[in-house]
Amino acid sequence: MTNSKTDTAGLTAAEAKRLQEQYGKNELTPRKKECFFKKALHTICEPMFLLLIVAAVIYFILGEPRDGAIMLIFVVGVISIDVIQEWKTDKTLNALKDLSAPHISVIRDGVERTIASADLVPGDLMMICEGVKIPADGVIVKCSDLCVDESSLTGEAEGVWKVPAENAEPTDDYWRRDYCYAGTLVTQGTATVLVDRIGSSTEYGKIGAHVAAAPEEPAPLQRQTESLVRLCAGIAALLFALVGIFTWLNIPDHSFGDRLIESVLSGVTLAMAMIPEEFPVILTVFLSMGAWRLAKKQSLVRRLPSVETLGAVSVLCVDKTGTITMNRMAVQETWAADGDSCALCEVMGLACETEAYDPMEHAMLAHCESLGLSGNDLFSGELVREYAFTSELKMMGHIWRRNNRLVIAAKGSAERILTICDLTEEERETAERKITELAQEGLRVIAVAAGSPASEAEIPPRITDCRLRLCGLVGLADPPRESVKSDIAVCGRAGIRVVMITGDNGLTASAIAKKIGMPNSDRILTGDMLSEMGDEELREKVRNVSIFSRVIPEHKMRIVKAFKDNGEIVAMTGDGVNDAPALKYADIGIAMGKRGSEVSREAADLILMDDNFTTIVETVKDGRRIYDNIRKAVGYVFTIHIPIAFASLLAPILGVAPAALLLLPLHVVLMELLIDPTCSIVLERQPAETDIMDRRPRDPAAKLLTAGILVKSVLQGLSIFAASFGAYLMMLDGSAANAPAARSMGLTIMMLSNLFLVQVNSSERDFAIQSVKRLAKDWVMWAVTFGTLAMLGVILYSPLNGLLKLAPLSAPLFFKAVGIAAAAVFWYELVKLVKKLRPDSEM
Ligand code: ADP
Ligand code: MG
Repeated sequence: MTNSKTDTAGLTAAEAKRLQEQYGKNELTPRKKECFFKKALHTICEPMFLLLIVAAVIYFILGEPRDGAIMLIFVVGVISIDVIQEWKTDKTLNALKDLSAPHISVIRDGVERTIASADLVPGDLMMICEGVKIPADGVIVKCSDLCVDESSLTGEAEGVWKVPAENAEPTDDYWRRDYCYAGTLVTQGTATVLVDRIGSSTEYGKIGAHVAAAPEEPAPLQRQTESLVRLCAGIAALLFALVGIFTWLNIPDHSFGDRLIESVLSGVTLAMAMIPEEFPVILTVFLSMGAWRLAKKQSLVRRLPSVETLGAVSVLCVDKTGTITMNRMAVQETWAADGDSCALCEVMGLACETEAYDPMEHAMLAHCESLGLSGNDLFSGELVREYAFTSELKMMGHIWRRNNRLVIAAKGSAERILTICDLTEEERETAERKITELAQEGLRVIAVAAGSPASEAEIPPRITDCRLRLCGLVGLADPPRESVKSDIAVCGRAGIRVVMITGDNGLTASAIAKKIGMPNSDRILTGDMLSEMGDEELREKVRNVSIFSRVIPEHKMRIVKAFKDNGEIVAMTGDGVNDAPALKYADIGIAMGKRGSEVSREAADLILMDDNFTTIVETVKDGRRIYDNIRKAVGYVFTIHIPIAFASLLAPILGVAPAALLLLPLHVVLMELLIDPTCSIVLERQPAETDIMDRRPRDPAAKLLTAGILVKSVLQGLSIFAASFGAYLMMLDGSAANAPAARSMGLTIMMLSNLFLVQVNSSERDFAIQSVKRLAKDWVMWAVTFGTLAMLGVILYSPLNGLLKLAPLSAPLFFKAVGIAAAAVFWYELVKLVKKLRPDSEM
């Protein structure tokens, strides 16, 4: 690629397309495409399916190819469900990845547009600015104040000041001053860059540092499910042996071969019923679907396990400006030291950026405009020098030459500006009183000062060296977002502490905190106090301080650490480049989608697309809901497998002939066909319980499967087992000839119980009828319910029933089955009732 092409229209869409075909995507490691076949194979290799296939093969050996074929059809059905599920999960995750992938501004077809960084091609003109992580190597065409942190490439911590290519002096250095490198970070300024190399041909790509990216650690939940799976597999192996032996002893009259095959078959049936292949599926499906739902609500999850952590958050550290407030500032009051507020506003305007992007400066310029000072008038002079704003200095200034006189116009936080002003004791007192007065109204107080150096030589090198005259104060209102007050109340009930972090004055912050009903709104810790404190002392302090004022980004790290050391699960917001370490360190780092820097987004677990506090609270709520549902699903999987496992276990023990069993392998697969969608569709969709934000945050150390859930699951499972197996035994009446009808009865009860169970377990407190009402509008729920009933209809009343070794049930029998199933499940409603009547009892 030559560098001659520097016209400002950029590439055309067609050229970009052709170049992309030639050079590929701007990615370091191209995304692997997994083929469908490989996925299916992967699924088939799961132990569950191997067992199914073993069972089918045994049927074939037994000389019952028809049974074997039906089995295989069902197996294909179950596999399809799994593969589709996995495919959907992958698609969801990829879509999420695309949403949170880095973007960059480029000029194409002569207009500026935002594209995915992966779509950059050599020859593109990209625009970079502060906070951007440079996505490709390229020559600097134009730049202003561009400083780049190249430590990721060179190890050099000091920022590099860049120059445009035409001003560059030739050097022998490998790292060029007129060139930008992928993977480095813009810390200041802006530039237009002609992309030269992309993807793995960039310097960054060449060193291959990215390849050794840290492997994703298994999330705590993942580890828990893995151990659950192992436990169940162990039980399955044990029962397999038991059932095999009992079956063997049961049929002494059969030939050796038959005895062996029957024993293995019933063992396999049981093992199939016991293998909890649903657990890992639940985890991935629930988390990825959860993340997807969150994305639709403006909150992008970058790491899947964060969805789980969200529900356990106990401290929310949020920036005031823009997150709690609307970031829609307006000048509400001015106080001029000499009474001339017009002069005050003029200096204030001169101290703003000529192309203001800060909402506060917008407000100031708008105020000037309303006084008849338009931007054109203000900025008609020559801008001689600039003192840049930093969050450490908290002030800035411009030096203008207007009408042949030099003017220093400075503005910034009132305390800081006062340090560079010449004031008498009395004047200082008046100013300070005024500052307090404005701040107590919740206004951001900005002091404005002016100076008039005689010549350019007399301009002080730094703003802190200036001696200025105080013009006055400006009070800016930035009203809190409307919903914040109720959100804070919600957090209070949910046991989540909200902590405000701000660069603003403590009094202002405290006034706003009071307005939005934050507890402890008068306890303030300032950045200076924080700097002087040891970690130990800070840990004690954060227990009841809710406002951190005059904070610089470096403090955020210590605040997070203090909370974490106190055992809290901390979520923290941040937008600046310097916030990245704290965001990484927090349990949940939250970056801003609108005003945040690329670097902060990359460090975050969550990106808030609308920068809104309400969205954070909603996200935490969803995190709790998702965790709740995972728990419910795990409980459900336990419950529903109990009748299956017990039926397979008990029948041989009771001496039921193998052909007359309640559940032949066929029927186990049939149940699986029902359980999978129930889990991954119905339980995943369960809305949040009404009291979800009235509970304390979850103890992060608590197990997924608590003793309480286990007991409940086992009791529910046993009662379904008793109902279905009891009905079956009664109808069987000891004669194998009754088996199809008895089996129909037992299976119908099991399937209906499954349907009822979901409604009953939908909530721990609300009655099933309420869950039904809540879900009445959800067509998917209806689809699953009618699907179950339709399936029941087909297997009982269609000609298929013979193949499935079932017999149709008469209407009275069917309704009896409905009644029995209802009784087997709805007794739990009584437990809820008792709990309601004794509200003091803890679940
Ligand atoms: P916040 O967390 O409230 O956004 P910032 O770090 O942005 O805090 O700002 C801290 C303080 O610096 C503000 O309270 C204000 O006093 C001062 N300040 C911020 N922006 C400007 C600016 N453009 N010009 C002058 N002073 C500013
Ligand atoms: Mg700010």
